Amino acid sequence: MIKVIKEDITNLDVDIVVNAANKSLLGGGGVDGAIHRKAGRELLEECRTLGGCETGKAKMTNGYNMPCKKIIHTVGPIYSNKESDPVNLYNCYFNSMRLAWDYLNDNHLDKVSIAFPCISTGIYGYPKKEAAKIAIKAVKDSNYDNIDVYFVCFGDEDYQIYLDLLQ
Ligand code: ADP
Repeated sequence: MIKVIKEDITNLDVDIVVNAANKSLLGGGGVDGAIHRKAGRELLEECRTLGGCETGKAKMTNGYNMPCKKIIHTVGPIYSNKESDPVNLYNCYFNSMRLAWDYLNDNHLDKVSIAFPCISTGIYGYPKKEAAKIAIKAVKDSNYDNIDVYFVCFGDEDYQIYLDLLQ
């Protein structure tokens, strides 16, 4: 199942929320800042133990004071119109799905839900429609039946783009 919603991702009662982090994994602006504020200091403490994260990769932590159980921190590309940008953005979604799949299996769960923000389309400047196409492709390519995916749009523009692409 793939669903598009317009919401603040920090309010979602899903199993896993994906964070559009930066390489330090120590918090930042935008959705990253909102997640760290809501989750609290313990999240920062766990993130300090992770040693940062490369662009396109993903690492999982607990959710702390967020409504979700786990947070996957992934680092999107800073848009520069290079060939590596779509590859890195694709990998953010694909590697996050892979971590969600491992979480499902490691915990013998029947199903998990995961919510993605529009990675790289804020401060990192990725063109919104291109980014949405890559996000949808990566999630569809992942092809895990028992993972419910929510694309979480913060603004009307992203919401409309995802609705149009998914209909
Ligand atoms: P990046 O640095 O990867 O571009 P940003 O946080 O600046 O990350 O933006 C990524 C996307 O997250 C943008 O579409 C922005 O509107 C959205 N966003 C910001 N805050 C929230 C939030 N609380 N919930 C969901 N999406 C958010």
